[in-house]
This record gives sequence, structure tokens and C-alpha cells, in this order.
Amino acid sequence: MKRVKEPLYRKYNKLARGFHHNSLGGAFRYQRNTKEVKNFEGTHMSVRRTREGYDYTPLFKFLLSRAGQNWDKIFSEAVQRLDKQEPIFWLVDLHFEQGDYGVVSIGENSYYSKLTVQDDLLVLADPKVTAPAKLCTCCTHTFNGIAY
Ligand SMILES: [Zn+2]
Repeated sequence: MKRVKEPLYRKYNKLARGFHHNSLGGAFRYQRNTKEVKNFEGTHMSVRRTREGYDYTPLFKFLLSRAGQNWDKIFSEAVQRLDKQEPIFWLVDLHFEQGDYGVVSIGENSYYSKLTVQDDLLVLADPKVTAPAKLCTCCTHTFNGIAY
């Protein structure tokens, strides 16, 4: 019997939604950073919200952890554990070219190394790329899931 694996996405807990740089009005609460929110002027722009209230962090960790392995196998496993394929291609850029920026921004202050496919293997698009400069000092920024 095949063991059913955990899905690679999860539903956001509404209270924990941390998009505090969008003006969400008085009802909005961000419990961890209450003090920062109070003083924040609200100038951060173009935050790309993760769609439909789903968090694909487990997928991104899965993909990064499989770098160097066969893409077809990774892809078919990922698809089985997702509601849709699209989020795979937020990280995996099949058209990545030398000189393209090897980091993608997903959600607020959350960055990941882009991945691409070479010789049927999933690989880091730019293995030398590092965490981008922080947009502000009031928020936690993460690169590949690690705060910096
Ligand atoms: Zn901030």
C-alpha cells in the first residue's frame, strides 16, 4: 500500500496573516509585531500576496531540498501533493537564462532561490545568488525559509 504523503500547501490561519504593509484598516491585527505596525507609515509597495489564502512554503522547501535530482520525478510527486501546478513555477523557471536574477519574491519579505531544469535535473538557477537587500528594518525577511 502506498503511504499518502502530506500536501505541499496549507491554508492560512486568518489571524496569522501578516501582510501588515498593506493598509488593511483598523480591524487588522498582527500579533507578533504589534508595536512595529503602530508606527509604520505604510509605504511598502507591490507586495505579491500568495493567492487564495494558501501557503506553499512546504512546496518551496520540498523543491529546494530536491535540487540536483530528476525533474520529472520531482514534478510528478509535487503535482500529486498540490491543488494546482502553478506554484511550482513560481520557483522553477524553465526559461531562466544566464544573467537573469536568480531570486524570486513570494509573499511579503519572503525570497527564494529560483530553480531551473538542466539535463533533466532540477538545479539552482544561480547557485551564487544571495539574499536580497532588506526593504525595511521592521519586518522579518526570509531567504529560502531562513530569517536574515
Ligand atoms: Zn517592514
